[in-house]
Amino acid sequence: DSFLNRSYSFDNFIEGDCNRLARAASFAVAEKPSVTSFNPLMIYGGVGLGKTHLVQAIGNFIKNNSLSEKFVLYVSSEKFTSQFINSIKNNSLQDFMSFYMQVDVLIIDDVQFLSGKEKTQETFFHIFNHLHQSGKQIVMTSDRPPRDLEGMEDRLLSRFKWGLTADLQSPDLETRIAIIQKKLQHEGVEIDFEVIEYLAHSIDSNVRELEGVMISLIAQASLTQKTIDLELAKRTLNHIVTESEKEVNIDTIIGVVTEHFQVRIADLKSKSRLRSIVIPRQVAMYLAKEMTNLSLKSIGYHFGGRDHSTVIHAIQTVNDLMDTDKEMNNTVHKLSQKFKK
Ligand code: ADP
Ligand code: MG
Repeated sequence: DSFLNRSYSFDNFIEGDCNRLARAASFAVAEKPSVTSFNPLMIYGGVGLGKTHLVQAIGNFIKNNSLSEKFVLYVSSEKFTSQFINSIKNNSLQDFMSFYMQVDVLIIDDVQFLSGKEKTQETFFHIFNHLHQSGKQIVMTSDRPPRDLEGMEDRLLSRFKWGLTADLQSPDLETRIAIIQKKLQHEGVEIDFEVIEYLAHSIDSNVRELEGVMISLIAQASLTQKTIDLELAKRTLNHIVTESEKEVNIDTIIGVVTEHFQVRIADLKSKSRLRSIVIPRQVAMYLAKEMTNLSLKSIGYHFGGRDHSTVIHAIQTVNDLMDTDKEMNNTVHKLSQKFKK
């Protein structure tokens, strides 16, 4: 068994500026394992950005397309570590080593977990050298670039740099839209572009979160036999976000701000230049920047499609006001307290 998950492929990995190099390098390795100079190939990036997907796609591609039978093995660094520890306990370190030394393509996920585990690293170092010298392909992932891996032996780190290191960035708006569309297509569900845009603008940190929301939406829609409209999308997002308590939802911020200043939601999104509306709008943008992970572009979208320079200006204005106007300072603090548990 390769421990590969068949559902991860290059076909269902959406390409965008955020992942182009990593995807191209992965595909090159998949087509010609151990022939390219990308050995080892190291893919790094934050949580939920597609590292596991991409390296599993390499494994699946090799299994499906190689002319000769290849021993492809996917293993997480945690599993590798626990197998290693067990082999010490059971006096079977030699078996452990020789098993790994037979592998043609070793895919080891989340190597940051090897940090500080000296003995495991030493063993991995030997396996790595053996495989590399025998012309076998090594693929690794990490949540950070090699230079930031602390508690990692220098000689191992220097090995990581022999090949190619490529990063995955947070998906840009277009990629997020494409990912949502792909997911909907896969599930055979259709929704208005307006809703897709809302979702893509509201969840801009990682793909896993985006998928989580989509799955929940699709499940709810099929349970209640309703279509996925903006209303349902907003409620679902609110719900998921409060549940995970991870971050404050922008609609919650807009709700709290409009209630406090006694203005309408439509006013915040309108073009109105009335001071009684401009101030609440700017405060809401400021809070959105402070309390959520949304990008300036996404924040602007939620306020009637304003551009990011307007959002920067709003944040600056609120900062200045808070410095000079004590009451304003109190208000903003009071409002932001409402979001903290
Ligand atoms: P990581 O290992 O970096 O934490 P994963 O590979 O587990 O992230 O990705 C999280 C989820 O997002 C997976 O379901 C994966 O299929 C999906 N995903 C991530 N990036 C993309 C992409 N570019 N196209 C399609 N799906 C993606
Ligand atoms: Mg992963």
